[in-house]
Amino acid sequence: MLANSLVELDRAHLIHPVASWRGHEAAGVRVLASGKGATVTDATGRTLVDGFAGLWCVNAGYGQETIVEAAARQMRQLPYATGYFSLGSEPAIRLAARLAELAPGDLDHVYFTLGGSDAVDSTVRFVRFYQQARGKPEKDQFISVAQGYHGSSTVGAGLTALPAFHAGFGVPLDWQHKIPSHDVYRNPVGQDASAIIAASRDQFLAKIGEVGGADRVAAFYVEPIQGSGGVLVPPAGWMASMRQLCADLDILFVADEVITGFGRTGPMFACADEGIVPDLMTVAKGLTSGYVPMGAVLMSDRVYQVIADGAGRAAVGHGYTYSAHPVSAAVAMAVLDLYEGGLLDNGRLMGERLLTGLRGLADHPLVGDVRGRGMLAAIELVTDKIARTPLPAAAAPAQRIFERAWDNGLVIRAFPTGVLGYAPPLCCTADDIDAIIERTRKTLDQTL
Ligand code: PLP
Repeated sequence: MLANSLVELDRAHLIHPVASWRGHEAAGVRVLASGKGATVTDATGRTLVDGFAGLWCVNAGYGQETIVEAAARQMRQLPYATGYFSLGSEPAIRLAARLAELAPGDLDHVYFTLGGSDAVDSTVRFVRFYQQARGKPEKDQFISVAQGYHGSSTVGAGLTALPAFHAGFGVPLDWQHKIPSHDVYRNPVGQDASAIIAASRDQFLAKIGEVGGADRVAAFYVEPIQGSGGVLVPPAGWMASMRQLCADLDILFVADEVITGFGRTGPMFACADEGIVPDLMTVAKGLTSGYVPMGAVLMSDRVYQVIADGAGRAAVGHGYTYSAHPVSAAVAMAVLDLYEGGLLDNGRLMGERLLTGLRGLADHPLVGDVRGRGMLAAIELVTDKIARTPLPAAAAPAQRIFERAWDNGLVIRAFPTGVLGYAPPLCCTADDIDAIIERTRKTLDQTL
């Protein structure tokens, strides 16, 4: 009864993100009631393995008491402190210092946001402040990568390269440009790593030429692994090569680690996979493991000093009421304790098991590609493995695959392109991973 009335209330009042509103009204909401470890239980009492950690964010898993206690303690003691007027709170200051310590290189300065989209938005402003402060205001063009996702704020949506986020908003804006994705499975230059890297470098240089040369380009945005574009893993060396190219051309390199940060690909940050130090890094999701909202921009000392000198005694005009929220910061500290206390190690082990298990599905007639790194993976479904023919949307719409997996006790992300995405909590047990694999095979068999 409770579930039914919730379904009606939801249909009447709650607008869902990135949903067909009419489609959602027809389907009705699935209400999640509780979570424990890597599992969630719905309002009808069914327990499922959450193979997607909510929205690739509950890295620490559900029901972690130390996180709950940290939030409660901070709420009792000081539920809010503004960062305006040079005020602050202990958890926020300690968290900034801890992130600076954990982050690669000289990413020593931290600006807190409420999530990933406003972290990306903040970088756009910081990049512009930086270029203006060093007397290069004409460096105002931004380049990102096709299939990339950088949030859905009005500015960030233009850096995002997924059409659903553009329609009707006049984005991308005229200073936002794209180069093709490094997509290994469907790259026109083939699957060879050095050919893909060379192609991306050429495409980047060509785009720079089109917009008026490197003197016009402010920054280049990349995800270490493209998430919402379908879990596209660049070939080894791609990130390092593009980072070096940006350094050579005096273009800021912004790594968007909103999904890949905090153990998702193995190390604390995916930039470490290629020994890269970006100029700016965005994080969110795993920072608080989804328990409360928080994101951050990590800024290199070089960028920070230029902006600070440029502004002098004037305010750098960018701020949010909830920047550096003390409860979110206390939660993030407890989450980091868990990551450093063994969860990252477990995630690395379970990530190997996940990828091995998914690779074991490659013999299935529908599976064209298996890819991933750590606890971030995907399989791409095709009707013809040789021709790599995508699954026709009409034959197996993503929603149907999602529902079948759900009925089999598994939460995954089914992209409209026929890609199934996996990003389970790092606390998964071997049994959880095995259940993910077995329930995926069952779902695929039902999709044939
Ligand atoms: N950047 C990346 C790489 C993301 O994957 C996302 C969200 O999935 C965002 C930015 C936006 O984050 P949020 O949804 O917290 O605004």
